[in-house]
Amino acid sequence: MTVPKSHPRYESLRIRDLIVEGVEKGITSLHGLTAHGRGEAFDYLLGEKTHDFAIKSIEAAASMLLTAKHPVISVNGNAAALVSKELGRLSKIIPAPLEINIFHASKKRELKIKNHLIENCAERVLLPNKKYQIKFLDSNRKYVNPNGILEADVVFVPLEDGDRTEALIKNGKKVITIDLNPLSRTSQKAKITIVDNIVRAMPLLMKTIKKFEKYDNNKLEEIIKNYNNKKVLEDALKTIKKL
Ligand code: ATP
Repeated sequence: MTVPKSHPRYESLRIRDLIVEGVEKGITSLHGLTAHGRGEAFDYLLGEKTHDFAIKSIEAAASMLLTAKHPVISVNGNAAALVSKELGRLSKIIPAPLEINIFHASKKRELKIKNHLIENCAERVLLPNKKYQIKFLDSNRKYVNPNGILEADVVFVPLEDGDRTEALIKNGKKVITIDLNPLSRTSQKAKITIVDNIVRAMPLLMKTIKKFEKYDNNKLEEIIKNYNNKKVLEDALKTIKKL
């Protein structure tokens, strides 16, 4: 669909089209459309812009990704449809591998996501391996790659579901997420929650990593120490109530 740039909801409709395209290409599941709808609703309530509380989370996330020993970026069908180029670039600049992890099990879709990421400049894309799994999770999402999430200390999981976030944490991983809903279990459980649209947050995260890579570890650890995820979620809720 061609949306004229003058349309008052141009950006929102452009992003919606990316998700529809993801479904048509077999990258995103049909269920991903409803997950996107929930995100859209919260974006609307947040005024569809990046707030100061999200910038604080992005700074903490950049610091944690730069100081991690084995960071991994987990990718699902929605993230691949919306920000494939950015995921590839982020993977190179941290550096950290991308690992595909989807709720609705399908080898075919995993491979389609992998190819889509590689076409969009990603280099290291891992797939889950049924010989390896994390504990405390029953769904298909328990399977992991032995060189990726299994050994990761920090897992960046944009657009996550609560069960997996909780399981990753119980497995000793630090979880960073992007979630427009400050009330979701993922937002509440993660160490760092970026309450912003993934489409706006990813370029800002990369810019911040580029700036912070000159900092020494003490400075980055200080940023992480001073970060308060609970306060960020409270500020996001206050913003929603005020609008
Ligand atoms: P939880 O299980 O964590 O309580 P949930 O059941 O809402 O959350 P899902 O439906 O699996 O989890 O995940 C979708 C989440 O992703 C939602 O919280 C939604 O707000 C968020 N989301 C969807 N699209 C975007 C987007 N473009 N940018 C940021 N967040 C998004």
